[in-house]
Amino acid sequence: MPLDEAVLASIREAAHLIKGSRYVTALTGAGVSVESGIRPFRGPGGLWTERGEPPMDGYRRFKADPKGYWEEMLSPARRSRFSDSFLAAKPNAGHYALAELEAMGVLKSLVTQNIDNLHSEAGSRRVFEIHGNRFKLRCVECNARFLRAGFDLSTLPPRCPECGGVVKDDVVMFGEPIPGDVLAACHTEAGKSDCIIVAGTSAVVYPAASLPLIVKEKGGAIVEVNPLESELSKISDVVVRTPSGEALPALVEALKKLA
Ligand code: ZN
Repeated sequence: MPLDEAVLASIREAAHLIKGSRYVTALTGAGVSVESGIRPFRGPGGLWTERGEPPMDGYRRFKADPKGYWEEMLSPARRSRFSDSFLAAKPNAGHYALAELEAMGVLKSLVTQNIDNLHSEAGSRRVFEIHGNRFKLRCVECNARFLRAGFDLSTLPPRCPECGGVVKDDVVMFGEPIPGDVLAACHTEAGKSDCIIVAGTSAVVYPAASLPLIVKEKGGAIVEVNPLESELSKISDVVVRTPSGEALPALVEALKKLA
């Protein structure tokens, strides 16, 4: 379906803004993966809405009993419970457009709240995953990440080959602090940005919520790509009111015309 004129005008405006910026970053959320068939956690059709929310004290329970945490993680019931929506998910046009923006030298880095690995799969290179990556494991002591596939789980809890610390799923649980290395990188990137593209997220959850504000407070600009109005809309410089899978490829084309 062709984009309507108002949306196209906002995309051209976004392209001009981005072209005139020195350091452009992006923040993405669940909305960019919806078109890949990844179900959101909350809201209509949400995984948690349907199957119940994970325990709020998950991280505390992990710390108290890492072996029990792993035994539950590896139980067949648990494995089938949350994996189905990720199976067969492939990057969509929005993911590929962000990867292309980086390859064009326009986008310097990308912060995502998604755990589905689709940005990396699409070819994005500087990706900071604030909520972790479901295909990885992480040492809680030194933050080293390891691919889940092939990691030795013969002894539970598994230990970090680098420092001997306990290893858990990289996905950040309720009650678990955002890993310090990722959090620091996000703040560094936001601090450098004079323009941030916020796509598929209403950015109300900390720390994602603070990143556009950091950019804005330094006099930078916010480009919001979201089919729905959000809290961020009010302070955004350009709002593109259409799903990211349509908006971002059109943005790439608009930028190429300006080149
Ligand atoms: Zn370690």
